[in-house]
Amino acid sequence: MTYDSHIRSYDAGKVIFSEGEPGEAAYIIDQGEVELSALKNGEHVVFVQLKKGEFFGEMALIDNQLRSATAIAKTPVKLIVINRKFIQEKIDLSDKLVAMTLKVVLERYREMRSRLEFVLAGNKLEDNQIFSHHDEKAYEEDTRLTTERIQAESNLKSAFENGQLELFYQPIISLKDDSIVGCESLIRWRHPVRGLVPPNEFIGIAEESGLIEPIGLWIVEQACKAQQDLIEITGKPMMVSINLSARQFESGDLVENIQRILEKTGADVSKIKLEITESLLMSDPLNVAEKLHELKALGTAIALDDFGTGYSSFSYLHRFPIDTLKIDQSFVFTMRDNPKSLEIVRTLCALAAALGMTVIAEGIETEADVELLKGFSADYGQGYHFARPMPLDDFKSLLKKGT
Ligand code: C2E
Ligand code: CA
Ligand code: CA
Repeated sequence: MTYDSHIRSYDAGKVIFSEGEPGEAAYIIDQGEVELSALKNGEHVVFVQLKKGEFFGEMALIDNQLRSATAIAKTPVKLIVINRKFIQEKIDLSDKLVAMTLKVVLERYREMRSRLEFVLAGNKLEDNQIFSHHDEKAYEEDTRLTTERIQAESNLKSAFENGQLELFYQPIISLKDDSIVGCESLIRWRHPVRGLVPPNEFIGIAEESGLIEPIGLWIVEQACKAQQDLIEITGKPMMVSINLSARQFESGDLVENIQRILEKTGADVSKIKLEITESLLMSDPLNVAEKLHELKALGTAIALDDFGTGYSSFSYLHRFPIDTLKIDQSFVFTMRDNPKSLEIVRTLCALAAALGMTVIAEGIETEADVELLKGFSADYGQGYHFARPMPLDDFKSLLKKGT
């Protein structure tokens, strides 16, 4: 890893930075000595002498304050300069709790120092005297958002551990003969107070916190078990689609973990379909292509979800081993009233056929949609017109009725 640093030299007596300036960099002493001082009653009071290997100048970078000290080269010095932008990127990327802790600790330190100076100067502390160094509102908003986020993560984590997450199943219908040919698993949070919470209210938190890794594997396992469970009704394994989040592809052992689950549950791998989104393909194409080929090698099918919403260029499609295109529901919703949407759906159906992929149209809400899609020779459909996502037991009852 590079620290985006460079070396800078100062002659003895030179000022490295001055009190009251904005901070541009932090420094590590490579050679020589540095003296830090602060102005007290018009006089420079030296408060520390630093030697080789010591780090300074970081405070103003962490909380965006002005320099609270002046740094002067005591001897000729060589400094490793670490840019402000680099440090700030690292803090932004770090765990939110760590970033918040850093800022709170620094703020308390600055406050204590001001308080001490105030008292040492012979003043008397009033009860509600404020020594804060920041914009009070922005600081509070910042800590509030961070604590809310941490709270949400921890709630989701305990929900997961307490079995409040559940997979629903939505039937996928053949547009050739109207039979149920498979299902898509869709996660829900059965919240004791809020009721059934939809995924768009918590998948984001799961992704940001990394909880999507264990939850994502649990989803695969549940869906594979459901496939086995359904055999008692269907007689043979049914196609089960599982949504994978982009974040799961950042894990080095995604493929291994999925393989282990497929083996453990005894799933019919050829009837497991993994759904990924278009944006995933573009974010990290080499890594994703490699993992998709590995997943294909296990025997699973791959579907491209929300197709048509991500990128207009189709030129990359052939680079990935994709079996199925899922036409995004936004086109299906509007195709009856909007000729452009209708043309897009027609074109996507033709594109899939030309590339040897099957098509699933999502968001089918009316019989008229079904007729239009049949006219385009779309293979499969999914939507409220057929059925909403439902608990496994309800899906079993539905299948029983149909057989
Ligand atoms: P998606 O994968 O595109 O799933 C389809 C969404 O459309 C589902 O919403 C489904 O309930 C909804 N839907 C199906 N037919 C119709 C219809 O006819 N009309 C309308 N208005 N909606 C319809 P849901 O279950 O709320 O899921 C939303 C999104 O959350 C999913 O979009 C997917 O991106 C994500 N998600 C759901 N389950 C999982 C999961 O197990 N893992 C991951 N990583 N993401 C999931
Ligand atoms: Ca999906
Ligand atoms: Ca979709």
